[in-house]
Amino acid sequence: MSMPSDTTPKPRPRCPVCGRASEPAHRPFCSDRCKQVDLGRWLNGGYAIPGRPVEDEDPEDQP
Ligand SMILES: [Zn+2]
Repeated sequence: MSMPSDTTPKPRPRCPVCGRASEPAHRPFCSDRCKQVDLGRWLNGGYAIPGRPVEDEDPEDQP
């Protein structure tokens, strides 16, 4: 059976910070600077859930 060409180019991931094409050396970011920017967001609580300590167990998480 004939198979289609396996040379389908994969879409390069985009830098989540600035939207430019990511560089393999800095995946998924385009540069070390954007990596630091994203890290800064984490440290600043941009992605964190405020006021929820880790030891605060959620009863809904129990089976
Ligand atoms: Zn970037």
